[in-house]
Amino acid sequence: MIEADFVIINANELVTLKGGKYKPKTGEEMRDLGIIKNGAIAISKGNIVAVGTTREILPEIQKGSEIIDATGKLVTPGLIDPHVHLVFAGTREDELEKMAVLGQSYLEIKEQGGGMNKSLKMTAETPFNEQLAITTKILDKMLIYGTTTIEAKSGYEMTYEGELKQLEIISTLNKIHPIDLVPTFLAQGIPPQFEANVDELVNEIAVKWIPEIAKRKLAEYADVFCEKGYFNLEQTRKILLSARKNGLKLRNHCDWLVHSGGTRLSVEIGEIVSVDHLIWTPIEEIEPLKNQKTVIIFLPTSPFCYVGKYANAREIIDRGLPVALATDVSAANMCESMQMMMTLAVLRMKMTAAEALVAATINAAHSINRNMNIGSLEVGQKADIVIFNAPNHKFFAYNYGINLAEKVFKNGVLVAENGRRIR
Ligand SMILES: [Zn+2]
Repeated sequence: MIEADFVIINANELVTLKGGKYKPKTGEEMRDLGIIKNGAIAISKGNIVAVGTTREILPEIQKGSEIIDATGKLVTPGLIDPHVHLVFAGTREDELEKMAVLGQSYLEIKEQGGGMNKSLKMTAETPFNEQLAITTKILDKMLIYGTTTIEAKSGYEMTYEGELKQLEIISTLNKIHPIDLVPTFLAQGIPPQFEANVDELVNEIAVKWIPEIAKRKLAEYADVFCEKGYFNLEQTRKILLSARKNGLKLRNHCDWLVHSGGTRLSVEIGEIVSVDHLIWTPIEEIEPLKNQKTVIIFLPTSPFCYVGKYANAREIIDRGLPVALATDVSAANMCESMQMMMTLAVLRMKMTAAEALVAATINAAHSINRNMNIGSLEVGQKADIVIFNAPNHKFFAYNYGINLAEKVFKNGVLVAENGRRIR
């Protein structure tokens, strides 16, 4: 007999992603979700203890366990969002409209004193507790849309004290919010006082900030805005190598606004856990990442909102590279829903619905090194589970722009239901 706190039964599709925890799914494997029709899953003490058909599992369950009926519904692992600019204050909806309607570019807005500089200023002026409250609201929205783990970046203050404060906020939220947060120090904005001398800022980051962040264990990863108007290749290299020397794992923002060569640099540095965006990167520069355990993260929101061009997902997947999806929530544009990312992946990036769901779960788990605990529904994995009010996984691209998540479980606890956080 199986002792369980509760069992979900009769799922029209139970998406297990079985076997995906050992290595990211690539190529053809991305079309195999390990679906069990009329599936059942049993949970005890926060972990998954049985997975199979309802007919197999239900008779084995000890009497007294709570039964949750998912007839006609889709059950998946909790969604994972591996690229989030989480901590910032102030919003920029006027600028987004200028970009989308008037066709002004991201860099033009920045030159007018808006964009990043506006966010750096507003974030720096916001006290810790106020920032905590703003950020909690973002996490709450993510949770009700079915996201149970995220990667969370700093980068919106870019002073020594400011970045430590941002990472402390992430650390505090990780303790008090149901969503698990994986902290990343991101060298992002360049404060006005350093604009004429970015090398000096880079030196300070490499010599002072990163060692202190590592010593206080405030970040697991370091990441760099290796982009035009931000950090150039040599500056990016210096920051990433300092981070590696100090025991941090690496990520990199590459080729988002223009083809700046960040992907080539990532290959050269080697074993970068994720390289993100890759909108303007030629495929020949992407392919060598295949041998480096790097996951490529697609971020469809800035293409959707103002960049216009999406990463070449079809070719990257067909060449066998592992890919994940993320929201890229930031001060520039905000969509907390990984469901919407799957919508865009299918309708705008030519990914199949199955590929999109793999990219939003198990491959996203690989991109933050959490694959042995989350991202698939297998015995021994943590019980991060979502019941969607949808008959199958293709509904994310079909019935879109709304919240299909009905029940969200984190570590085996029901934390959100019908669009409301309840724990
Ligand atoms: Zn980003």
